[in-house]
Amino acid sequence: MTRSPTTLYNSLSRQLETFTPIDPTNVGIYSCGPTVYNYAHIGNLRAYVFTDTLSRVLTWKGYPLTHIINITDVGHLTSDADVGDDKMEAAAKASGQDIWAIARHYTEAFKRNLDDLNIRPPSKFPLATDHIDGMIAFGKAIADKHCYQLPDGLYFDTSTVPDYGRLARSQDDAGESRIDPVEGKRHPQDFAIWRTSAPGENRQMEWDSPWGRGAPGWHLECSVMSKQYLGDTFDIHTGGIDHREIHHPNEIAQNQAHCECGDTGATLWMHNNFLVERSGKMSKSGGAFTTLQTLVDRGFHPLAYRLMCLQAHYRSELEFSWENLAAAQTRLKRLAMTVETLAARGLGGPSGSALAYRERLDAAVSDDLATPRALPILDELLADKRVAPADRLDALVDFDAVLGLDLGTIRREDLRIRPVTATIDEATIAARLSDRRDARAAKDFGTSDAIRDELAAAGVEVMDGDSLGWDWKITL
Ligand code: AMP
Ligand code: ZN
Repeated sequence: MTRSPTTLYNSLSRQLETFTPIDPTNVGIYSCGPTVYNYAHIGNLRAYVFTDTLSRVLTWKGYPLTHIINITDVGHLTSDADVGDDKMEAAAKASGQDIWAIARHYTEAFKRNLDDLNIRPPSKFPLATDHIDGMIAFGKAIADKHCYQLPDGLYFDTSTVPDYGRLARSQDDAGESRIDPVEGKRHPQDFAIWRTSAPGENRQMEWDSPWGRGAPGWHLECSVMSKQYLGDTFDIHTGGIDHREIHHPNEIAQNQAHCECGDTGATLWMHNNFLVERSGKMSKSGGAFTTLQTLVDRGFHPLAYRLMCLQAHYRSELEFSWENLAAAQTRLKRLAMTVETLAARGLGGPSGSALAYRERLDAAVSDDLATPRALPILDELLADKRVAPADRLDALVDFDAVLGLDLGTIRREDLRIRPVTATIDEATIAARLSDRRDARAAKDFGTSDAIRDELAAAGVEVMDGDSLGWDWKITL
């Protein structure tokens, strides 16, 4: 089957474009990675479900990829612009821990999150702190023509590049209030290339540079690492929609200054919209926030969260709620059960072809990664009695290559996760349910009801005749 051309939305041109790789034998994607001063919240993880969908679709279409996700372990201030503390230094001070240990701990936690969400590892996870020399060399290359020195560092003069901020949407007067003033800056949008440590400032991470001892500005790392691993111009740069306003315009300005040309660095700039939570628990710096572990602790499988993300288009805002998550988990259980039933049927059956389903999957994901449209096509495929079970399962492989829900291997039992607060374990539940079945077989309904009540008191709902074939669920 020849796959259709892929159309992707380019934030820079503000339109859908047909994807034409620079080199079809090696497509380059750079995704801005996490700032590792804390665990990722589930909103951050939506950004990587999106990049994984992008990389899965392109891989399925036959493009070999080099995909980079950097790790920001220095330089990101509490404001995306130039005031506030370095998030990493602030976390180290608050916890009294070694900053390098903090970075390692949260980097590993992030990688585990990706793994749990069935997000394929990128080609490389480069660390910002491993590229300080490259950042200093980059700064030196652009300093004379594009930068100026202030007492607290080297600043980029945004008026020295053409069309600064073309990517951003909030270039009106109101939008500019998002940029915090720094004394001496020539223009409010100018940003730090290097931040010189203040006299007496006690930083755990700092390096010598031509602009004094200090640390790089946050935007610099992505220009340097993308260039190093993907070249001066590569195919796709991704990030959350917040990056469209400050971080990416600044990367583009640096890239233009470095090449002394109009090139932005990437052909396509793609942004996922936010996951929002009405309670406001989607800020890593705001104290309590929802992590993947929070979901697991409440009895949800990480892939239920992945499915919840795929049910929305990556460019739409998605509201998180426990009800939405529960609905996604039920949908996933239903899918897993259907696949198990099909697998049990074995070979043979009608000779209808599954090709039309593959083509419809292709049409959906080729249209700017429309996963919400791909999911009902999968439901139809699995239910189509004109196609032999083995052929349906064969086509499922294509769907799963793109959706990454692990449908070929996941079993219903895997999706039944005990909330941490549950006081009863699976073995006890199984034993009591077996006693209850014996009582019912002996028509001892008194005992059977008593066992049901006892389990209910422990937070276990017995589900006789559940359409998903579930015996019980924990209702805490
Ligand atoms: P950070 O760790 O803050 O540097 O962010 C990591 C990634 O998560 C970036 O691509 C952000 O744009 C993205 N991001 C942050 N908050 C959200 C959210 N609520 N929903 C989706 N993506 C987000
Ligand atoms: Zn970045």
